[in-house]
Amino acid sequence: MIILIFITLKKMYKYSMASLTKAEMLSWLKTEDRSELEKLYEKAYAVKLANTGKVVHFRGIIEFSNVCSKNCYYCGIRKDNKNVKRYSMDAKNILKAAKFALEAGYGSVVLQSGERADKMFVALIEKLLKDLNAMSSGKLGITLSLGEQSEATYKKWFAAGAKRYLLRIETSNPGLYAKLHPGDHEFGARLACLKLLKKTGYQVGTGVMIGLPFQTCEDLADDLAFFKKNDIDMLGMGPYIPHAETPLNAYAGNFDKKKNLRLGLTMIALARLSMPDINIAATTALQALDPKGRELGLLAGANIIMPNLTPTEYRAGYKLYDNKPCLDENAEMCLHCLEKRITALDEKIGYNSEGTSKHYLKRTKSGRVLKIPASKIDSKISI
Ligand code: SAH
Ligand code: SF4
Repeated sequence: MIILIFITLKKMYKYSMASLTKAEMLSWLKTEDRSELEKLYEKAYAVKLANTGKVVHFRGIIEFSNVCSKNCYYCGIRKDNKNVKRYSMDAKNILKAAKFALEAGYGSVVLQSGERADKMFVALIEKLLKDLNAMSSGKLGITLSLGEQSEATYKKWFAAGAKRYLLRIETSNPGLYAKLHPGDHEFGARLACLKLLKKTGYQVGTGVMIGLPFQTCEDLADDLAFFKKNDIDMLGMGPYIPHAETPLNAYAGNFDKKKNLRLGLTMIALARLSMPDINIAATTALQALDPKGRELGLLAGANIIMPNLTPTEYRAGYKLYDNKPCLDENAEMCLHCLEKRITALDEKIGYNSEGTSKHYLKRTKSGRVLKIPASKIDSKISI
């Protein structure tokens, strides 16, 4: 009987915050009261502990190419930035970086680059995935973060061994999305890609930039509702940081580092409270705003860190925003530095484990994998 009461209370605690209303979220996003926010972060951290444990999982990120066919107004490697020296790592070097992750026990890697959808690129990734799986005997969880692709491509890469995909919606407000992108970058197309990824069977991650010009706290509260409604498995969101060589830098005068850091942490905490069992990353952009930004993210409810595995020689070429940290470090230095930071928090590192999203495991076990016929996917789908 006592055990039963304990289990029920624990369950109630685990999910008691799952029903935050939009008004409550808004009021948290608007508050600047540090001591109140500390309490929120503590609650979110407790929910993280109860749901994903006292463990941080690593996703080694390999930023293998800065060649991009798109022109997002906020991004430093946008196609029209002629000051960027373009690079593409060859398969041998990408595999070498992934081998480092495998041997260091990271359990998973993220392959990220600018967006390309040409045949040669699609085939290159397909071959790379097969080689990666052969090299690791399937022991490395592979996440792709390669932007918008066709359904056929998503299927091809899934069949070749990628099981997770990270595609940030950037903002759930279509009007704001239109202000941040040229006319041929469509919110509806990005949304349709998220649906396709889920339909294909990927663990789906999305996210937004926080503290964008024109963005309101209402928008951020709507972003949280968007994540929940779309039943996502992973969240990788972070503060927006201006890049001098981008059109959006025209608004850099309004950039408020402290505010974006605070909002970044509050968004993590609110996401954890409303989606207790998803994987949430403490992203590098947090560290660009505060040397301890990623630790703060973990203490606000995140459970994933993405150590950089990009060889040092390429890091300066992958500056999505200004003041990106760790540009002169290498994978080994990043590992030691992170180990120290995480053990200082008294958290364990989930070595040799893929750290699959608990939410994904539950969702697929209960058969909640979204199956929408491709013909029904269009920009008007309401979410
Ligand atoms: N090309 C792929 C993946 C690389 S970009 C894609 O766009 O999906 C990865 C993420 O970097 C983007 O989703 C965006 O949210 C983030 N990003 C780009 N510019 C940024 C900036 N100035 N500040 C913060 N994040 C930025
Ligand atoms: Fe390219 Fe991604 Fe940057 Fe957009 S955000 S310009 S798609 S790398």
